[in-house]
Amino acid sequence: MRCPVCKIPPLREVEAGDKKAKLDICRTCEGVWFDAKELEIVSGVAIKQLQAPLSAKRSKRSCPRCQNPLRTFHYPQTLVEIDFCASCHGLWLDRGELKEIHTIRQNLKKRGEMQEVADPGGLKGALLNAVDSAIGVLNRFVAPPE
Ligand SMILES: [Zn+2]
Ligand SMILES: [Zn+2]
Repeated sequence: MRCPVCKIPPLREVEAGDKKAKLDICRTCEGVWFDAKELEIVSGVAIKQLQAPLSAKRSKRSCPRCQNPLRTFHYPQTLVEIDFCASCHGLWLDRGELKEIHTIRQNLKKRGEMQEVADPGGLKGALLNAVDSAIGVLNRFVAPPE
């Protein structure tokens, strides 16, 4: 698989966390790809049922797994864009995006301004849960917060 951002370098497969999830990380930009299977392992959510939010736009990037155009949407309460594949249900997170989401969420929590963005039982809530779990794994694994 090739990085959807840098295009050239092949992604490096690494084992993350204690749950045996295998992630694909770009050596150059340090973005991370989660296959649907990996997202299911880290989030416990049945990813195949998930859809990108209706507000999601067509991304300029292509899915590293199935080559279809990714769908991009903003993580709630942030300007961070997340890329999601509507075909194979994988998820791409840029390295900077992880840190930004983590920082913003911590600040919102501290100030008591964290909004309940979606019904946790709904598809959007499930997708965000999956994103949060992915970020949790990555924070422990590649980007420990300072
Ligand atoms: Zn890259
Ligand atoms: Zn795909």
